[in-house]
Amino acid sequence: MSDGSSITVAGGGLSGCEAAWQLAKRGFKVKLFEARPHFQTGAHKTDSLAELVCSNSLKTIDEAKPAGVLKKELEALDSLLISAAYASSVPAGRALAVDRARFSAIVFEKLTENPNIELIREEITEVPEKNAIIATGPLTSPSLANSLGELFGSGLYFYDAIAPVVEAQTIDMEHAFYASRWGKGPGDDYLNCPLNETEYLSLVDFIRTADSVEARAFEDAKFFESCLPVEVMASRGLDVLRYGPLRPVGIFHPVTDKRPYAVVQLRAENLERTAFNLVGFQTRMKYPEQKKMLALIPALRNAQILKYGEIHRNLYINAPEKLSRCFAIPDRENVFITGLLTGMEGYVESIATGALSGIQMACELTGKPWTPPPRECALGAICWWLENAPQPYTPTNINFGLWPPVADVKHSERHAAMVNRANESFKSWKSSLDSWW
Ligand SMILES: Cc1cc2nc3c(=O)[nH]c(=O)nc-3n(C[C@H](O)[C@H](O)[C@H](O)COP(=O)(O)OP(=O)(O)OC[C@H]3O[C@@H](n4cnc5c(N)ncnc54)[C@H](O)[C@@H]3O)c2cc1C
Repeated sequence: MSDGSSITVAGGGLSGCEAAWQLAKRGFKVKLFEARPHFQTGAHKTDSLAELVCSNSLKTIDEAKPAGVLKKELEALDSLLISAAYASSVPAGRALAVDRARFSAIVFEKLTENPNIELIREEITEVPEKNAIIATGPLTSPSLANSLGELFGSGLYFYDAIAPVVEAQTIDMEHAFYASRWGKGPGDDYLNCPLNETEYLSLVDFIRTADSVEARAFEDAKFFESCLPVEVMASRGLDVLRYGPLRPVGIFHPVTDKRPYAVVQLRAENLERTAFNLVGFQTRMKYPEQKKMLALIPALRNAQILKYGEIHRNLYINAPEKLSRCFAIPDRENVFITGLLTGMEGYVESIATGALSGIQMACELTGKPWTPPPRECALGAICWWLENAPQPYTPTNINFGLWPPVADVKHSERHAAMVNRANESFKSWKSSLDSWW
């Protein structure tokens, strides 16, 4: 807990580590509390800081896309986690995918060598009274979740699903080939497992009828639309998967030059490429069913599953209704909520809220004029969403829809115009931040 002279950061995940970094580099003493290894969330597998619980991808680096713009803005704020991601990246085309162990190791090293940060391996069990950032994520420990529940009333929750990971050596390369979509980026980043029409239809048929893990009585399943389990997608129509994660568009067999009917894409889990995850194949199927499902994909017929797909409960707060000044808990003295607990979904978005909440707290505690970034840039769009999102509040990633529309441009040029505007408005906000810091 805060002893008055330091700031408590609860949670050494993506947002907590970034918030601690931003505070420490501005001269604040930080006590960073991480509950693992004593407490386990169910999804985290290690005691590492900034553990990525599912995919190893931090999404696109394309600066014409919102997620790419967000990364660029975070880099400009000297984000520790974005620099650690680049330093531990593995080949993944236009995506920033990382070797997760190396990523966590860099974050650990940088934080623990910083004299302003003390890492304490303890659980925070109650919402602190003052000077704290709560970054305990969607799998917050039950005691702290109860304390948050007392403060905010009934919490909202939903589910994410994890995709299976297979051992590289057990993939049948006679039935798989490396290729990137439309030949963009290095050709060996994605390993493609093609399916013909018959194979695709039997796979969909199996997925539709496979046994899934039942939600527990208190778990009312609300899935995040862009992270739907394959079984939910398959239940929505025969072609939904073929237009979703299994879409073959732009992928051609290197020998026949033919486009498969559908394709399961695999992406490397580590630099050594010993393990691959099934891209977009998150599932809540029972483990034996997952094995049977892979047997229907020719390249994965004998694949060894290293990590099964799973589902987990996520906890988040209705930020627009319950928080003020983006992150602040009303009636507490400088106690902020950050990360996925705010309902901003995604690794980079969690890092972004961590950075913003850290900088905002540093400004407010020193009487510096804090102005949130303007909605026209990516970080500002996040702040705007947290304060103004419509009800019922549901989690979101950064996307073009969070930015205000642009006037007087052709329909086909609107995204480019939004990105240009984002770059300009971020630059001017950043220079005002620099002038007072
Ligand atoms: C199963 C699952 C899969 C996901 N997959 C993806 C994905 O593939 N891509 C993506 O972009 N996003 C994904 N997300 C969403 C989100 O981006 C991640 O959950 C992200 O890690 C959230 O960052 P965070 O900082 O809020 O929480 P976390 O990174 O989870 O960090 C919270 C930390 O707080 C610790 N903690 C918990 N309770 C306490 C306590 N009381 N006291 C002290 N420490 C505590 C935890 O051990 C953890 O280290 C997934 C979420 C879940 C749950």
